[in-house]
Amino acid sequence: MSESFPRKLTDREMDLLSWVLPEDRPGYAAARMLTRSWSVAARGRRGDGNYILAPEGTVVDVVSPLPQVLAYGVVETGTISTSVTVRERMDVQLEFEIVDNPAFGTAAEPRRWSYSTWLPSSVCPQCGRFPRDVRMSTEGNRLVVLAICMYDRRLWVFDDRSGVNHPVPVTNFYSELMSQTGVRDPRVALRPELLFEQMSAHADDDLARAFVSYNTRHAKIPADDPVLAPESRRPLFGRLFSLFYH
Ligand SMILES: [Zn+2]
Repeated sequence: MSESFPRKLTDREMDLLSWVLPEDRPGYAAARMLTRSWSVAARGRRGDGNYILAPEGTVVDVVSPLPQVLAYGVVETGTISTSVTVRERMDVQLEFEIVDNPAFGTAAEPRRWSYSTWLPSSVCPQCGRFPRDVRMSTEGNRLVVLAICMYDRRLWVFDDRSGVNHPVPVTNFYSELMSQTGVRDPRVALRPELLFEQMSAHADDDLARAFVSYNTRHAKIPADDPVLAPESRRPLFGRLFSLFYH
């Protein structure tokens, strides 16, 4: 099907984007406003359902690395599972993906869930169980919470200033954790699934330090008010953790 650009968002696109970009959270509201004022300027590089919003007349950039994910949600109807992803704004463009997939029989009832609604101490939006939450503070004494759901094997970090829950890819985070705790044994260090399978093996302070280190490379929390790392108190922990798996 040929498509001409620029075009307006369809009603369905507008509904889904508005849902994952709630207006009561400043970090999402800023992107939501762009969905009102910009047009769909081009397809993205990731196939069906991937588009780029931009002001009219913009030549869009489809060459730079994809920005990080800002918002993510899933609509399950029982037979179709629709994922909605919005990426961080890059200059004057905002990229989103709305992708329909066959559902794998997990949702008996239609439902939708999104990370955009999560608040610290509440249940995981996807599975309804409590994630582990690791509380951190910034220099400006704001709250930052790393949430880890062992059931869905997902991580995200809540920023109290923007209200945004940023998804955190497990592989990169886990390699920071291994480097922070000094684990080099490949049977442990190369198996990120152990983060979830052996969650109690990791102390909050180690998880927090790993996040702070991760954040210096893949900024989720802006550096103008840096997240504070707990002081290192347990230098032997990494070696002990490694021994545990021998
Ligand atoms: Zn979950």
